[in-house]
Amino acid sequence: MSGRVVVQKYGGTSVGDAERIKHVAERIVARVQAGDRLVVVVSAMGETTDELIALAQQMTDEPEARELDLLLSTGEIVSSTLLAMALKHAGQPAVALSGAQAGIGTDRRYGRARILSVDPKRIRQELDTGRVVIVAGFQGITEEEDTTTLGRGGSDTTAVALAAGLGAERAEIYTDVEGIYNADPRLVPEAQKFSEVSYEEMLELASYGAKVMHPRAVELGAVQGVPIYVASSFSEAPGTLIHGGPFMEQRNKVLAIAQDTDVARITIRGVPDRPGIAAHLFEPLGESGISVDTIVQNASVERLTDLTFTVSRSELNRALDIVKPVALEIEAPSVLADTHLAKVSIVGAGMTSTAGYAGRMFRTLFEAGINIELITTSEIRITCLIDEKQVREAVRALHKAFELEEG
Ligand code: ADP
Ligand code: ASP
Ligand code: MG
Repeated sequence: MSGRVVVQKYGGTSVGDAERIKHVAERIVARVQAGDRLVVVVSAMGETTDELIALAQQMTDEPEARELDLLLSTGEIVSSTLLAMALKHAGQPAVALSGAQAGIGTDRRYGRARILSVDPKRIRQELDTGRVVIVAGFQGITEEEDTTTLGRGGSDTTAVALAAGLGAERAEIYTDVEGIYNADPRLVPEAQKFSEVSYEEMLELASYGAKVMHPRAVELGAVQGVPIYVASSFSEAPGTLIHGGPFMEQRNKVLAIAQDTDVARITIRGVPDRPGIAAHLFEPLGESGISVDTIVQNASVERLTDLTFTVSRSELNRALDIVKPVALEIEAPSVLADTHLAKVSIVGAGMTSTAGYAGRMFRTLFEAGINIELITTSEIRITCLIDEKQVREAVRALHKAFELEEG
């Protein structure tokens, strides 16, 4: 069989019910008829992953990571097998493979495993027999043959890793919006779609809440030089190409707004201002794989200071279990946690003199009556922590203030 190899991925909404799976099958058949050889990664149907997590939590508050991953991996097994059946019913030879069967090797970090290797031997064999290969996304296997999952949204990463492993020209990500916009189109109706965006900017957007792409997928695309095309599975409208340049579009300095409501804040009060204390607090968090973001240490008053940082809400309890004994040990009187906050960020590689942009961002939030709880910046991003209830308002106000309605 000849023809170029194309790797596609369809997200949860796109395979949300039987009719949608049949629709995806039709799209695949059309591409095969156009002469391409297809490897198709799928997510679990609709809200399946959330439902499986909820089920596990009915058994125990803290399900063991190994069993939880094996359970969650079944969501993608369901959608991949159904899609293969739909294709065969339509007369298109196809085969469904689990992540393990597709040769996706990962480390042992359950729930957030990293892909270490891709062995596409089986996929190649199947392609050579003229089959469309359907791969269950979001999962892999360790050296010890335990099933792992790649973190929420991880099917994107499966697709990019396979595109790299197979030497495909690009990975095509089909979702429920028509591409990457300069704000979440569900929050901002005036959001503008990009025809192209850089890996660097997309990584920042994805890491700060634009869940249309899994951050690790963007990172992998950049490292492996795999362009990622994001488009709708429901229309033929042109999508967005994430790539390394050069770029043809004239654009705003502030590229886009992102928001993230998966934020929990931990504050440790009255931390003694001595060398080594921060290391003492953050090392055990790092060792247990909790990713800490937005760390702020206040100026000390009478050799005592407050330390504040954020983690994702699903990791709050684990983080507190680690932090509380350390706080006791260093005689910090209290540890506070809250989960009513959210991050809003402005992102753009052109924001070289951040000060002016920061001022405009803070004024915009102030004029919208929004209090800023914390501020962090990177070279291409400014992030404010605000009340979760004001996220929509904040994103819309910033979208307007930075003139993003005009694209
Ligand atoms: P899938 O199930 O296809 O993986 P996701 O729900 O993970 O889809 O991601 C698509 C969603 O990402 C969209 O429905 C949209 O609400 C959201 N989103 C957030 N920010 C952006 C953005 N800047 N551009 C496009 N979509 C965005
Ligand atoms: N089904 C998984 C999730 O909901 C992976 C994915 O959709 O990419 O996070
Ligand atoms: Mg997704």
